[in-house]
Amino acid sequence: MKVYDVIVIGAGPGGYETAAKAAAMGKKTMIAERAQLGGTCLNRGCIPTKALSRSAEVALLMRRAEEFGIKSSGLSVDYSAVAARKDAVVAALREGVAIELQGVDVVYGEASFVGESVVEVNDELYTAQQIIIATGSRSAVLDIPGAELTIDSDKLLSLTELPESMVIIGGGVIGMEFASILQAFGVNVTVIEYCKEILPGFDSEVAKRLRMILKRRGVNIVTSARVIAVEQGITVRYIQKDKEKSVAAQIVLMAVGRRPVLPLGLDEAGVAVERGAIVVDETMATRVPGIYAIGDVNGRCMLAHAATAQGAVALGLIRNLNVIPSAVFTVPECATVGLTEEKCQAQGLDYLTGEMIYRANGKAQAMGETEGLVKVLVDAKTHHILGGHICGEHASDLIQEIALAMSAGVTADTLVATVHSHPSLSEIVHSAIIKAVR
Ligand code: NAD
Repeated sequence: MKVYDVIVIGAGPGGYETAAKAAAMGKKTMIAERAQLGGTCLNRGCIPTKALSRSAEVALLMRRAEEFGIKSSGLSVDYSAVAARKDAVVAALREGVAIELQGVDVVYGEASFVGESVVEVNDELYTAQQIIIATGSRSAVLDIPGAELTIDSDKLLSLTELPESMVIIGGGVIGMEFASILQAFGVNVTVIEYCKEILPGFDSEVAKRLRMILKRRGVNIVTSARVIAVEQGITVRYIQKDKEKSVAAQIVLMAVGRRPVLPLGLDEAGVAVERGAIVVDETMATRVPGIYAIGDVNGRCMLAHAATAQGAVALGLIRNLNVIPSAVFTVPECATVGLTEEKCQAQGLDYLTGEMIYRANGKAQAMGETEGLVKVLVDAKTHHILGGHICGEHASDLIQEIALAMSAGVTADTLVATVHSHPSLSEIVHSAIIKAVR
């Protein structure tokens, strides 16, 4: 049996970053991976989607070139080249992960538990003081007739040709990102969302703003609609306001959430699972001493950077995971951190809101990116920031100022007193905060 200080199972952003940190701490570390380094995020998720989203941005901007005084003609989308660029970005980053893991023993193969702290990979046994499960998640499938006619985001990302039309079941993060990307490439997209607004869980004002922008661009968005069946052809049947309706398309994407992927042998190890996810405490420890679970597999927060941060918690490097921003890579982007206004109301909090639109900002005007808004929620007494929500250009970067203020306990007054460079989009965040407290 091979003995390590730390064994990590799964080389996604949770697993590989944690293994690299453990090695840097001087721990003898092994990571087991059954497929490729990088996991869902790098190979079938965040990175390829962002690469496609960038191509979509370029296509959308080029269609508006004359607005900027630039004449162009003969614009067309060569999707096989778009897909090749995406694959090249992924391949380059995968090499980077291999370099990051230089101090770690990487074992390719399926890892399964064969005892409380014994893991088997390729008929070899391994043990460690700390075993960290980081096996991620896979797409969920609705239990409806014809579900097998749909594709998931893995399959969609592997296409080298575009369909003419597409239905997306689910207007959550994945659904809206692909709706934005494929519409920009000229695909006729319909999104069918169960809730009354897209991006459930996001501040509804920001979600509504994105829905209006995408609708104007030509995405057909149907809300308060429950998909009940998919039929050969392909036709998607759904119920909206008690009426049965249908829409036809060449391909149908199922984007209704993700489910944890559990390693085999959890029973042998005695690791508890509830509602499909591994049960962990605030330190990411399972109920079995020495076994931890981070990332999508514990079902707490299905975001790559949350998995990485949870890994640092498991290693005892950080404690506080209260502030986790997230972004949606539509065009324009949306980003969120902290409480939404709906949650502030539900918790009966005394709060102030400040909002600023992109249109009023000099940099946004110069960039020709005037659609969007920043909204901040501030505690009425302490002036601590409760939440921030952005729909607009560079939202995923702008949110970080609000996230930093929240995690460091910086008040709105300190942000107001902080000089923001001009002209910059950061002034929109500044103005929203000024509006909240003055
Ligand atoms: P999601 O939970 O964000 O959205 C699923 C959507 O499907 C919901 O809006 C839900 O109301 C809808 N839905 C469920 N049943 C339906 C039905 N019968 N008919 C119509 N709509 C239905 O899940 P996702 O978009 O699949 O994403 C999965 C996970 O991956 C999420 O946790 C997400 O945060 C994460 N993710 C994050 C990013 C990012 O941060 N940029 C990108 C991709 C995925």
